[in-house]
Amino acid sequence: MRERYLGVAVPVRPVDVLVSEPAIPTAEAPKRLAVEDLTVRFGGIAALSGVSFQIDPGTVHALIGPNGAGKSTCINVLGGAYRATEGRVTYGDDVLTALPAHRTAGLGVARTFQNISLALEDTVEDNLLVGRHRLMRSGVLSGAVRTPRARREERVHRETVRDIAELLGLTPLLRTPVHSLSYGNRKRVEMGRALAARPSLLLLDEPVAGMTHGESQEMAETIRQVRRDLGLSILLVEHDMPFVMGLAEQVTVLDFGKKIAEGTPAEVQRDPEVLRAYLGAAAV
Ligand code: ADP
Ligand code: MG
Repeated sequence: MRERYLGVAVPVRPVDVLVSEPAIPTAEAPKRLAVEDLTVRFGGIAALSGVSFQIDPGTVHALIGPNGAGKSTCINVLGGAYRATEGRVTYGDDVLTALPAHRTAGLGVARTFQNISLALEDTVEDNLLVGRHRLMRSGVLSGAVRTPRARREERVHRETVRDIAELLGLTPLLRTPVHSLSYGNRKRVEMGRALAARPSLLLLDEPVAGMTHGESQEMAETIRQVRRDLGLSILLVEHDMPFVMGLAEQVTVLDFGKKIAEGTPAEVQRDPEVLRAYLGAAAV
């Protein structure tokens, strides 16, 4: 159990060196994200209490902790779905916590959900195109008016979707309805939908939850590749510590809504507070 939760038996893989020229450029360069003294309360429960951390541009930052630690709450604030009770979040010069949810996408922030939220009857391609919606001016997918400009825009959207599908290994599945995909591929489509918006900051809420070991390994490789080819920042929310060990430069550890440790994966892995939190959770 100790090995499983702390990853002490898992060899640490070096983090990939970032290639300077992304294959599919992001709309904008990633900026520094700063979470400052963030508190979120639901009635009497403090889901987050005075949490601060930063994500350097172009890096993978992991947010880990036992169930109920406040990880999803944090992603929900960053994505604009939850409001901060106190504190603030900035992305570059923009104050995310001062904006309504639909504006955060415009700043280059996109997310996936802990529980998959795809249109199951629709094809992979159509689900990926949903990720382009915020960028569409002429409502090209409604198909009503086919001006030359609308056709040009549609071509760009479909090309971007095809590029993202290629990057994620989904090209052969573009015409397949999502309901007939494996769980691992559905998770990949969800990530693709977020990436289709060409964010500079990608928020991933437990991307390997419910996956087999083999599927998790593949997803780790996909995340490395996305980061390398798209040159974006990633906030990786995970329950399972071993998964983030070879993926993230920096790790922030939450327990009961409070930050209990931060540092490199190797540093937090041997932090006594972290050991206590994880062994406590594992013993339940
Ligand atoms: P994690 O993602 O780390 O498992 P969450 O952020 O989902 O943790 O939950 C942290 C705490 O906040 C839990 O006690 C949870 O019940 C509570 N919580 C999260 N979202 C809500 C909500 N919308 N309403 C009430 N309580 C919530
Ligand atoms: Mg969660």
